[in-house]
Amino acid sequence: MSSRTALLVTTAALAVALAVAVALLIPWRPLPLHGVSPSPVDAARDFSAAQIAREDAFHAAVRPPAYVSMVVAFLIAAVLGFTPLGARLVSAVAAPLGGGWVWRVVLGTVALTLVGRVLTLPWDAWSESARRRYGLSTRSWGAWGVDVAKAYGVGLVLTVVILLLIVGLARWQPEYWWVFGAAIGALLVVVVSFAYPLVVEPVFNKFTSMEDGPLRTSLLQLAREDGVPVDDVLVADASRRTSSLNAYVSGIGATRRIVVYDTLVETAPPEQVRLIVAHELGHAKERDVMWGTFLGALGVALVVCVLAILGRWSWLLARAGVDSFGDARAVALLMALVAVIGLVSGPAQNLMSRRVETRADVHALDLTRDPQGVVEMQRRLSTTNLSDLDPPPLVFGLFSTHPTGPQRIALARDWARLHNVPVPPGLAQ
Ligand SMILES: [Zn+2]
Repeated sequence: MSSRTALLVTTAALAVALAVAVALLIPWRPLPLHGVSPSPVDAARDFSAAQIAREDAFHAAVRPPAYVSMVVAFLIAAVLGFTPLGARLVSAVAAPLGGGWVWRVVLGTVALTLVGRVLTLPWDAWSESARRRYGLSTRSWGAWGVDVAKAYGVGLVLTVVILLLIVGLARWQPEYWWVFGAAIGALLVVVVSFAYPLVVEPVFNKFTSMEDGPLRTSLLQLAREDGVPVDDVLVADASRRTSSLNAYVSGIGATRRIVVYDTLVETAPPEQVRLIVAHELGHAKERDVMWGTFLGALGVALVVCVLAILGRWSWLLARAGVDSFGDARAVALLMALVAVIGLVSGPAQNLMSRRVETRADVHALDLTRDPQGVVEMQRRLSTTNLSDLDPPPLVFGLFSTHPTGPQRIALARDWARLHNVPVPPGLAQ
């Protein structure tokens, strides 16, 4: 079998494996209604006209710069990667220092990512000013700058490691680099998922064990009732940058943890914190992070093979002014291709995420049997976080990782009717 045939067969096999895994692992129908007609999704039923108007105004202020930033980032990646400009930039920054391909990849990646970072900065500052105006952001401009620099640094390290691997492997095994690339890429996803809570999260936040008291006792009791082994709940010092409320599960195996924002612990009633933790327990019990990591590993292996196919396309290489991925100047082309793949696969990833989130919502309802409390909690989350209650369908499809507040509230009402529990009345005054 030629290396080309082997590549095509492997790519097809990975695509089929990913499709089967997605079909089996994603809860496509998290709450079967068995013929019961679904509750209407209607923001006006639970949110006042003033709340809806405030959220609309916030999104009108924050969306334009956020979208411009995304478009600018994509266009820069495309212009640098699909024309010889990026390759020239890599040569220009690396040439004065001499050295081999490793230096060219490292310096080239720094230069390419800095161009994107600097040109999107004004738009991101504009978004941040909108978040500040609406009280969502509580950090100073200095702290914002530090956060931007840290996020850039973390992203740069990961990008450099990945590009060094691809270029290095392509130099070592021009015909079969993708075999090693796919295996190492998949392994890297697992390593990052495991190490994320230990290495990346502490760069941005401090985490402390929730202090002893009735809330901690009740949360650990809830986990016990649920049969999920949890011996600690961590509190993140999120309040130093935001007023928004959140909780999440991260890590796999020994690094798995449940984290709640300090903003939540300090402002929400304990019953609502309990309901939010019940949702997170759903993620823990279903091992959503572990299965997400598995799907991510398969996805990355597939992406490496797709890159290898594109890397054999001489027309594309000529556009970028390089001979092969073994050429250090190809890092611009690689970054552009990854940007395109991300753009294409993002909506599918978000759709899967929304189904998994809905399953965690159903889990919280099954565990607490408190749809009324869930409706009140979702209203608090949506109003405090200024979540979009009724996003345009395109925006929702492209960017939403969670169902909207009104959708999650409708789910609680569906759950109540299916379980013969009083259906929570509308909360709008
Ligand atoms: Zn969730």
